[in-house]
Amino acid sequence: MADTIFQKILDGKVPCHKIYEDENVLAFMDVNPISLGHTLVIPKEPAKMLGELSDDSAAALGRVLPRLARAVVAATGASSYNVLQNNGAHAHQAVFHVHFHIIPKYEDNSGLGIEWNISEPPPEELAGIAKKIASKL
Ligand code: AMP
Repeated sequence: MADTIFQKILDGKVPCHKIYEDENVLAFMDVNPISLGHTLVIPKEPAKMLGELSDDSAAALGRVLPRLARAVVAATGASSYNVLQNNGAHAHQAVFHVHFHIIPKYEDNSGLGIEWNISEPPPEELAGIAKKIASKL
């Protein structure tokens, strides 16, 4: 995997505003925050997309994400927050090292904007895709 900016941060070659570190995870401030307190949480394991992570690395991230979310809320006083995790350029991923964004959403509406285009597929279509996904587990 090519050296991403996050790998350089992990290797100590690029500085960051560190919030948290353990054996498997690093959390630091996003340099171009969408809102005050925008935090990034990354595995130390080099993986481009979520599906490439080992179970151990995924578990380590899952263990600490709620704690970090509580800390972001407590420190910023944000009323709400979004956890965002982009995979692939088409899905807005710019840094190809897995990362979770914790983005505070404030009462003035600053924070992540979401365009949520819903559809209403027939139940057969939902059943079909559910079965297909389940068969790939
Ligand atoms: P994504 O679009 O999900 O890949 O988001 C990548 C994020 O990394 C963006 O929000 C950037 O602002 C952030 N970012 C890029 N370089 C750095 C850096 N050196 N330190 C902290 N955050 C960074």
